[in-house]
Amino acid sequence: MMATSWVCVSPNGDSQRLNLDTLKKDSMTYKIEKTEEEWKALLGEEAYRVLRLKGTERPFTSEYETLWDSGTYVCKGCGQELFTSETKFDAGCGWPSFYQSIDKTRVKEIADYSHGMSRVEVVCSACGGHLGHVFNDGYGQPTGLRYCINGVSLGFRKK
Ligand SMILES: [Zn+2]
Repeated sequence: MMATSWVCVSPNGDSQRLNLDTLKKDSMTYKIEKTEEEWKALLGEEAYRVLRLKGTERPFTSEYETLWDSGTYVCKGCGQELFTSETKFDAGCGWPSFYQSIDKTRVKEIADYSHGMSRVEVVCSACGGHLGHVFNDGYGQPTGLRYCINGVSLGFRKK
């Protein structure tokens, strides 16, 4: 069986604000560490594939993509608060999108050269779980940034 690989890209040709070479490779350790078996049991198959194996959920499938309730989006792996509904916007790309994180310490940016592209991966700073990518393509105003996040990596706490 062939596995379909979904990739979030920038439709207008992305110009990254970040020099990828200055970013860390993902070899750091995190406050929250679990074994692969523990993660699998905690997350279930799909969230494990995305968060721990850096997968991508199929676009337009997350309940959060079209959710506009007020509240806070947390990391599904560890519960750290990552984004608020105030910074969520409709990017039309099929994944929940935000123009900024709650603060810069919550998400870590990592150089990602997979799929023959140069992108900036974002992970949860507490558990290292893969969230998605951040693009500097002007869609998310006022910052110009678009945090393209897998819904399956998130939980939602309604206000
Ligand atoms: Zn986390």
